[in-house]
Amino acid sequence: MENIPLIKKEDDIAQIICERTDILDGDVIVIASTIVGKAEGRTFSLVDIVPGAEAVEFSKHIRFTPEFIQAVLERSRECLISSPVLLVEMKNGHICINAGIDESNVEEEILLELPADSDASAAYIGKGIESYTGTQISVIITDTNGRAFKRGQTGVAVGVYRIHPLKDWKGQKDLFGKELKITEEAVADEVAGAANLLMGEGNGGYPVVIIRGLKLRSKDSASVKEMYRSDEEDLIKKSLKYLRCRV
Ligand code: GDP
Ligand code: MN
Ligand code: MN
Ligand code: MN
Repeated sequence: MENIPLIKKEDDIAQIICERTDILDGDVIVIASTIVGKAEGRTFSLVDIVPGAEAVEFSKHIRFTPEFIQAVLERSRECLISSPVLLVEMKNGHICINAGIDESNVEEEILLELPADSDASAAYIGKGIESYTGTQISVIITDTNGRAFKRGQTGVAVGVYRIHPLKDWKGQKDLFGKELKITEEAVADEVAGAANLLMGEGNGGYPVVIIRGLKLRSKDSASVKEMYRSDEEDLIKKSLKYLRCRV
């Protein structure tokens, strides 16, 4: 979408979108978490943060200040890697670098954090768009994240409204009539990745992308938590915890 202004605290993102474009039934409205965080006033400054002993200890092994590390730890359930990067599990199960705290596309000296509950933010904006337009739509809130095993960041879904993040192919047939047994397609991340390609990471000013024609709207409520593996199931998380006990 063109013409989205710089977003400020308390801006009505649903209204800003609806005033600038036509929305149709079934559209997936993909929104960068950066502007959702700005509208929700989730900016802060490191000046106000007092680091604890753990943050001070971690700062000896990583290029971050104790204040920044403290800000990350306060937003995390668990720290999985503390050097040379800070990889944490957030309270809703989202695992990412630096707890998603971001300094790009915000003013100097100001940091921006993810919405406290991006599913709730997606639902709030989605219901707003539906009531302004009388349509039935889906929303995906995205952030740019790195990936395990590969270089390069992509857009991922951090909050959803009326779109299940996983499409279950189990029970369907392949070209040779064999039944698919495992495949769950991460559709919300796929859509987020495609939208992120249009958003870019810099000064483009494209925080909203509308994807039309996918028929992914769910009848019931949906959550990004459907994607996150439990502690028991997640072998990588288990290995990282095992290693941390030993360093
Ligand atoms: P993130 O992936 O959620 O961290 O968001 P980015 O910082 O990568 O920004 C994604 C896109 O949104 C880029 O095209 C930015 O230029 C744009 N963007 C970020 N903030 C604003 C804003 O307040 N207004 C507008 N119009 N674009 C913004
Ligand atoms: Mn950013
Ligand atoms: Mn970000
Ligand atoms: Mn980005």
